[in-house]
Amino acid sequence: MNRRERKKLIIIIVILLVLTIICFSGVALLKNRNGGDDVPVNPGNENNEANEALDPVVAALKKETYFIESRLTRYLDYIKNNPDKDMEEVIRSVNANIDYAFYTNEVESNVNDGTLIIVNKFHKLPEDYNPDLVDMSSAYTYGSFKMERTAYEHYKEMCDAAAIDGIHLYNVSAYRSYERQEYLYNYYTKTGGKDYADATSARPGYSEHQTGLASDIITSDEDKHFENTKEYAWLIANSYKYGFILRYPKDKEYITGYIFEPWHYRYVGIEVAKYIYEHDITYDEYYAYFIEK
Ligand SMILES: [Zn+2]
Repeated sequence: MNRRERKKLIIIIVILLVLTIICFSGVALLKNRNGGDDVPVNPGNENNEANEALDPVVAALKKETYFIESRLTRYLDYIKNNPDKDMEEVIRSVNANIDYAFYTNEVESNVNDGTLIIVNKFHKLPEDYNPDLVDMSSAYTYGSFKMERTAYEHYKEMCDAAAIDGIHLYNVSAYRSYERQEYLYNYYTKTGGKDYADATSARPGYSEHQTGLASDIITSDEDKHFENTKEYAWLIANSYKYGFILRYPKDKEYITGYIFEPWHYRYVGIEVAKYIYEHDITYDEYYAYFIEK
């Protein structure tokens, strides 16, 4: 190898060396951009789950008893708009659709639910809803009323059991037709305005009385507020044993959308009534978690 050839070889070796160095530093730079070896380059499912587990708000929501996976986005939005609410209240409210304004996002009640049918400010009865009604005997009602067949059987049992305890329960309203509800709602609107009518009465199609499953109960002593009577105390302690619940309880107005109605009882069956009684939830929440979910 002469001098010239040796020089050529050295130049080639130097060029190769420079190219190799450029190559290695390029790879290292790319690796760094992707965050190094510890973080996966492809953010797949595994990585999303890891992120979720790191979010303390989502983790806290998931720990709640009545958490519904499909409502996660709504829970998070509700927290954003109501940062002072605790997790339990967030779940309660969204499950009862309180993140929506009343009479918006309505869906039709599912008639296949039978005596568990839901009717509230987000679930409307079909126009042609036609419950299996029977006439109530004058022994159980003031005035002539009809009630849904199964509910009425249990209603009579409840009244008979109460009578043994010296408690006399009188129905003053059971089944109401769409037209009757329309008349009542219009009457309240005329006398107190729309807000008053919405707080005290249901719009036609949205009343539980149209199902034949509800009863308004009073006492013979009309001077007393019903919540202060022994009849009310008896119903609170015993109505669930016959499948009836206090549908619009005190302090749950923000969930049910109705003022406290100590006189209004709804038949849901013994098993469901017992659960609601023992767990202190409204039927709106029960339905969202156990039936609609
Ligand atoms: Zn009522």
